[in-house]
Amino acid sequence: MDTRDLSGQTIYRAGRGIEETARELGVDPAELIKLSSNENALGPSPKAVDAIREHAETLHSYPKASHADLGDALAERWDVDPAQIWLANGGDGAMDYLARAMLEPGDAVLVPDPDFTYHAMSVRYHHGEVHTYPLAEDDGFAQSPDRVLAAYDGERMVYLTSPHNPTGSTVSLDEIEAIAERTGEETLVVVDEAYGEFNDAPSAVELLENRDDVAVVRTFSKAYGLAGLRLGYAITPRAWADAYDRINTPFAASEIACRAGLAALEDDEHVEAITDLVEWSREYYHDELDAKTYESGGNFVLVAVGDASRVAQESKERGVIVRDCSSFGLPEHIRVTCGTREETKRAVETINEVC
Ligand SMILES: *Cc1c(COP(=O)(O)O)cnc(C)c1O
Repeated sequence: MDTRDLSGQTIYRAGRGIEETARELGVDPAELIKLSSNENALGPSPKAVDAIREHAETLHSYPKASHADLGDALAERWDVDPAQIWLANGGDGAMDYLARAMLEPGDAVLVPDPDFTYHAMSVRYHHGEVHTYPLAEDDGFAQSPDRVLAAYDGERMVYLTSPHNPTGSTVSLDEIEAIAERTGEETLVVVDEAYGEFNDAPSAVELLENRDDVAVVRTFSKAYGLAGLRLGYAITPRAWADAYDRINTPFAASEIACRAGLAALEDDEHVEAITDLVEWSREYYHDELDAKTYESGGNFVLVAVGDASRVAQESKERGVIVRDCSSFGLPEHIRVTCGTREETKRAVETINEVC
């Protein structure tokens, strides 16, 4: 026997870790810096780490109270009803829940191209079809209403990524609203705000006050530094009432994840430290890299380097791991994560040398 036909599914290839790369190059991992996965340069929130230690002893119980408490805390933070918060195994898990709740087999979903690959993967896993709208370098990879609506053909969901990965471009609330307004009543506009904390633009959650056709995806993986924990959530329309209870895998987020999430949410100091650092690092990349960079609202910057695969390879050999964007369909660009001051300076030096 065999699985169902999986030939149409893509395999997610995460960037290689420091350990693996160090072994390949035959060097000490301490000599390498990894700026290829948009991880938090300052590590996890220390308050979250304490909470994880503290709650290790109670792991024999299902996370009933903590799951509810985190949902309530997020609902309060966003000023929405707790039923609108859909906790999940990472932002990726939240996308899966949206697909579960929305898609009948064969329904289509419109995503940008290039884009974060999991949007399309999640749709395909849930028997949906993927349609794309092209982003263009000459208008800064904008996900403008004109671009989106030129491709729109009644799809069930439309993904916007703001800030966009890997380009860093953002979509304004007015633009999001215009897209929601001009797409059909049965089309959900999903705004992926995985990097939302790294810029001052208001969240699309505001739009949920008056609309039932917008959902927002958020994560603890980036600004909160908890990528290894796997915790994210969707904020969904109020009109959906108990839909989450009907589709979620029981205890979607673990006890440890919920406890850490609750603690991290309180740790404004840590979020402020990383957002300040990111602001500095982005400016440094813009000012000091000899190659062209693009405005970014995230904790990374897209850089036009010509031959991305060569530049990424040679940077790696010099100890700096950056993301070759060829797999995104951008073979002339690399994406470099905002590191500590020291890492950022070393990345600039290395990339300039290699270019
Ligand atoms: C990192 C990222 C996510 C979330 O990843 P999780 O670790 O699953 O929370 C979502 N969208 C984009 C665009 C990302 O870059």
